[in-house]
Amino acid sequence: MDRLLTGLQPSGSLTIGNYCGGISQVANYQKKYETFLFVPDMHAITVPQDPDALHKNIINAVAMYIACGVDPNLPDMHIYIQSENLYHANLSWILECHTPHGDLTRMHQFKMKSAKNEAFTEGLVTYPDLMAADILLYDAKYVPTGIDQKQHVELARNLAERFNNRYGEMFVIPEPLIPTIGAKIRDLQNPEAKMSKSTDNPKSAIFLADDEKVIRKKIMSAVTDSDGKVAYDEENKPGVSNLLTLYSVFGEVTIDEAVDKFKDGGYGDLKKGVAEVVIPKIVAFQDKYNEVIKSGIVDDVLDAGRDYSNKIAAEKYEMVRKAVGFGRI
Ligand code: ATP
Ligand code: MG
Repeated sequence: MDRLLTGLQPSGSLTIGNYCGGISQVANYQKKYETFLFVPDMHAITVPQDPDALHKNIINAVAMYIACGVDPNLPDMHIYIQSENLYHANLSWILECHTPHGDLTRMHQFKMKSAKNEAFTEGLVTYPDLMAADILLYDAKYVPTGIDQKQHVELARNLAERFNNRYGEMFVIPEPLIPTIGAKIRDLQNPEAKMSKSTDNPKSAIFLADDEKVIRKKIMSAVTDSDGKVAYDEENKPGVSNLLTLYSVFGEVTIDEAVDKFKDGGYGDLKKGVAEVVIPKIVAFQDKYNEVIKSGIVDDVLDAGRDYSNKIAAEKYEMVRKAVGFGRI
């Protein structure tokens, strides 16, 4: 069975963007592939985090994965916390020593996040190497992701190829799995940018933990344009196209069907339509989330995931260690 792997940083509450690019894909593919779904807490501290909030976000994230349809009882589903597996950092170091610095500083995500904070840390630079380690340790063939992480998966591919050429076959070459619709859910207030959970402006993002009224308000105040015509055009009408995308994903129709439904009305009708399909799904996730938290299963799921992920990662790390000449033969 091929392996699929992905992670969503516990840098805040998950957004509908994280649902579209990450979790919904895991739920769709979970019966087809052996799945490694991890909480990248080590990635989260590439920008400042409050320790108490980080602990809470980790548990809440796992409960939300399950609430969104990930089935922790599937025999080939492994959910774990990155920092509970020390091999990630070890392999990351080795990969860092094989990555030209310029390959890291040209990454879009690095440029965007470092622009927000002049005192950015080295962790923000080397983050893609840690992500490559996350993937390569498990021989993951598929990495479900939004468009924003495509460049990082490409770096992991390049590293894997370079490694295999230099040291012999060692890593599976990973491929990003990018959804055809919803690969870049846009910021509601600045539709040029992608929606992000670590936004400074809460009106920009719909969080899976938002209550119904808040979601409706955020959708109704989403930035559109002055043209007044409902049409799908990512480049010239990013705000309206984003609303159509949300309608399509949450209403389970094609983009053409969404355009057809709203083309004779105004943006107000489109926004109301989006709220009507988005809200019931999020409310259902929240009901399930509360059940998961009450059931207390999260710790057991994470214990099992920690043990299994350590076993798999240890085997791969042993191969790499020997190949690069570390320690004793
Ligand atoms: P942060 O702002 O802390 O970076 P984020 O919202 O970008 O948070 P990540 O944890 O970086 O979320 O990414 C988790 C997953 O969600 C990745 O697969 C990423 O590609 C996907 N993703 C993130 N934002 C979006 C988006 N706006 N649209 C679609 N997919 C997204
Ligand atoms: Mg991100």
